[in-house]
Amino acid sequence: MEKKLIVANWKMNPPKLAEARKLLAEVAEEVSPAKNSDSKVIICPPFIWLGKLMEEFKLKKGLVFGAQNCHWELGGAYTGEVSPLMLANLGAEYVILGHSERRHYFGETDEIINLKIKAALKAKLKPILCVGERAGEEMNLAVEGQLEKDLAGLSVGQMKEIAIVYEPVWAIGTGNACLPDNTLSAALFVRRTLTKLYSRFLADKTSVLYGGSVDAQNAADYIKKAQMNGLLVGGASLEAEEFIKIIKNISW
Ligand code: PEP
Repeated sequence: MEKKLIVANWKMNPPKLAEARKLLAEVAEEVSPAKNSDSKVIICPPFIWLGKLMEEFKLKKGLVFGAQNCHWELGGAYTGEVSPLMLANLGAEYVILGHSERRHYFGETDEIINLKIKAALKAKLKPILCVGERAGEEMNLAVEGQLEKDLAGLSVGQMKEIAIVYEPVWAIGTGNACLPDNTLSAALFVRRTLTKLYSRFLADKTSVLYGGSVDAQNAADYIKKAQMNGLLVGGASLEAEEFIKIIKNISW
């Protein structure tokens, strides 16, 4: 199995570069191939801090970088946007796509997300695709629909570059984390859907992560009990001490 992925989604934080530097310096201190040989820590800061932080921390082994979004074209007249090619040329390796906050606040449809995934792959970025139901929705229906549309037209070769994150929307930033039993059902359901769309082999090879109010207390349960291959961490990734504990608790 691939390494466990621990994705830090800083969202629109912190407000100052000095704070971003301090947070990352504290995390970087604890991350090294020796200490976390079976996990990969992917830091996704806001675009505006990304280049600076990558430059400053590029020699730090064990840390890799990603973006929180990208455009669906590699370049062109799209005022205010950032292309996947720019991110790849900067040295970013991953990009979070389909996050529920982008779907909800910025009107990103599954069709847009599908275009973004294809553009990211063209630029050689690895997409981290987020799917999940809103409160009151059926997990199976929501997740299956999103996976079918978001992954439409992607080849098996392209799928090997993609990680899927199950993030129930009601669990994001609420402190109301999904129970490991329900998360296990979701992990199995994602793999069943990938088997239907591709093959059992591909479904087993794909990294499936959990996101939604992860903290140091619950992190290990998602790996041990819910068979997840990693975590996407929002709020807790902004507190160095808590995030380091999460990394330690799932690195063995
Ligand atoms: C997220 O950013 O997708 C997320 C899961 O946030 P939090 O960990 O704060 O719930």
